[in-house]
Amino acid sequence: MIRLNDITSQILKHNPKANLDIVEKAYVYTAKIHHGQTRLSGEPYLSHPLEAAYVLAKMKMDVVCIAAGFLHDTVEDTDATIEEITSLFGKEVSDIVNGVTKISKIYFATSKQRQAENIRKMILAMSHDIRVILVKLADRLHNMQTLGFQKPEKQYRIARETLDIYAPLAGRMGINWIKSKLEDLCLYYMEPEAYAQIQSQISLRSGENAKIIIDAKKLLEKKLEEVGIKACVKGRDKHFYSIYKKMADQNLDVTQVYDILAFRVIVSSIKDCYAALGHIHAMWKQLQGRFKDYISVPKINMYQSLHTTVFGPFNQRMEIQIRTWEMDKVAEEGIAAHWKYKEGKYPSQNGEEQFAWLRQLLEWQQNLKDPVEFLETVRMDLFPDEVYVFTPKGDVKAFPMGSTPIDFAYSIHSEVGKKCMGARINGKMVPLRHSLTNGDIVEIITSKNQHPNEDWLEFVKTSKARTKIRQWIRNQERDESITLGKDLLEKELLKSNLPVSDFMRNSKLKSVAEQLSIKTAEDLLAQIGFGKISPKQVINRLKPMFGLKEDRPPGIVSKVVGKIIHRKEDHGIKVKGISDILIRYANCCSPLPGEHIVGYITHGHGISIHQDCCKNILHADPERLIEVSWEPLQKERHMAKLRVISSERKGILAELCTVISQKDANITYADVKTTTDQKGITNFSLEVEDFQHLNSIMRTLKKLKSVLIVERV
Ligand code: MN
Repeated sequence: MIRLNDITSQILKHNPKANLDIVEKAYVYTAKIHHGQTRLSGEPYLSHPLEAAYVLAKMKMDVVCIAAGFLHDTVEDTDATIEEITSLFGKEVSDIVNGVTKISKIYFATSKQRQAENIRKMILAMSHDIRVILVKLADRLHNMQTLGFQKPEKQYRIARETLDIYAPLAGRMGINWIKSKLEDLCLYYMEPEAYAQIQSQISLRSGENAKIIIDAKKLLEKKLEEVGIKACVKGRDKHFYSIYKKMADQNLDVTQVYDILAFRVIVSSIKDCYAALGHIHAMWKQLQGRFKDYISVPKINMYQSLHTTVFGPFNQRMEIQIRTWEMDKVAEEGIAAHWKYKEGKYPSQNGEEQFAWLRQLLEWQQNLKDPVEFLETVRMDLFPDEVYVFTPKGDVKAFPMGSTPIDFAYSIHSEVGKKCMGARINGKMVPLRHSLTNGDIVEIITSKNQHPNEDWLEFVKTSKARTKIRQWIRNQERDESITLGKDLLEKELLKSNLPVSDFMRNSKLKSVAEQLSIKTAEDLLAQIGFGKISPKQVINRLKPMFGLKEDRPPGIVSKVVGKIIHRKEDHGIKVKGISDILIRYANCCSPLPGEHIVGYITHGHGISIHQDCCKNILHADPERLIEVSWEPLQKERHMAKLRVISSERKGILAELCTVISQKDANITYADVKTTTDQKGITNFSLEVEDFQHLNSIMRTLKKLKSVLIVERV
């Protein structure tokens, strides 16, 4: 078992001035609070925090991180509270412990490929301090080393989780030695046969390979020395998992993989890296397609090296990695190689390189803030723009920060989104506009009566939800317009005494639609509903199909008449091209007769009438606006025909029309002829209330100077 002494001397090795007080205090506290607890191995529980702290010391972590390593299980497994840890060890330590505890509480039910990446991101997102992840890795390493004491099912599950999540996280952090150890342990528990096969092959061949390795190494060193490159050549042990992966990826058996010799050439400068490469390629035949230059293009975790494979002196494949001492350190220790803590202080402001390294490490990070700000502490949100939550089945889903249950529901299926009426988060009901937080378990409640709401657009964050909600609203409007259009057309047909069902037949409407370059009959009805086409227009195009004549377009006379009628100030509204339509006066501006007005086609509630300067109209969809005008209320009217004979004079028609309309009669028809003796004969059809009304009109007309005769026809 590791002792406190091993840890403190490890710390002092890389940081002789370290203040060990906090580490010793954490040790004493941990020993006391875990007292009496044992591991499954039978060892005292204390062995586990000691091992974790030792790993962190080997990673050259600062004393705060190592203290947190000691304390990492106290809150989860003992009576200790976060408040207590904070008061005894300070907020920095307790934040790390809290972070590790939170991650430990998450149960990763799935480990599918796609999921694993999201879980890794979630862990990063939950760790406001990179040291949380490092403590978690140290914890996991020791748990993997003692996994043999667990039940087989648990062994497999933990190994799977480690291989999918923690080993890649170690890789992402560039801590290669932890990654390799974790992977080998995973292989041992997950693929025991493959592991045993590789193991026996290694012990079987180790003797004969050793000689080849020594010979090749000597030859390589000698050649490089001859050309003046100072290099350290190391034979390189492949770890079990990398052999296993090579077997799987390149479809090789274990002997083929193991026959490949592996060397690492470490030199003092980048220039020497390329020079050494040149000499090696000159000396031995290169295996095509195996050269990789990770010096000019470093890996995401900042790994740098030149990789090549050649046919070596014994015609055996030789894999060679060439790099500088600095690169070698980074390759093994990753983030820890850049961990230049000053005791009691955060990384210094001038640690720009460290920052640059971290920045590139966090490949997913999109909108990184100001570098200085980032460097201030290692405590930060690694993914400030994303949030990771679970489905009830344990799948992880990523969303933009601030997303809501509606976004979650639409990410499952648009039908679920549409019917989403509520959500339970971690078992509790929340409102639809609730913001999701990392690690939430989200359960959507649907109702068949629910449907999307325009308000949702105010708080949804994903474009999928937004698009689907908009789409639904648009379709809904279209449905309403089709219904409205159908109503308008039917009423107009009834009014004109035309056979409704014949005229409304889909095939007929479709051919009208085609004439108007509209796709379908439904679209045509929608256009009527939107007020873009009048029912009259459609009827005029339908009529010829049934051998009927179109209505004549309004001539000059009816235009004049129209103007006169519209000057009236009685209540009533005329909508351009449509009659018999549901009208209501908008409450926002309550227009009065005579004011300039405009109609707005509502969703299924007819047309609302606004003043044309109403602010609601200024912002309305212009396609929904329709021309309207004031019109007299239709009292009961009767048809009467009059003939007026006058001395021909310019403007006589207008004069006659003015008189008639002043008498409150509608002119429905008028035509003017000029006789050979220069007289004008005007025939009118009028709508009048009664006989007296007509007489009064006739009397007034007779009083006009130019009028000779007024008679009923
Ligand atoms: Mn632990």
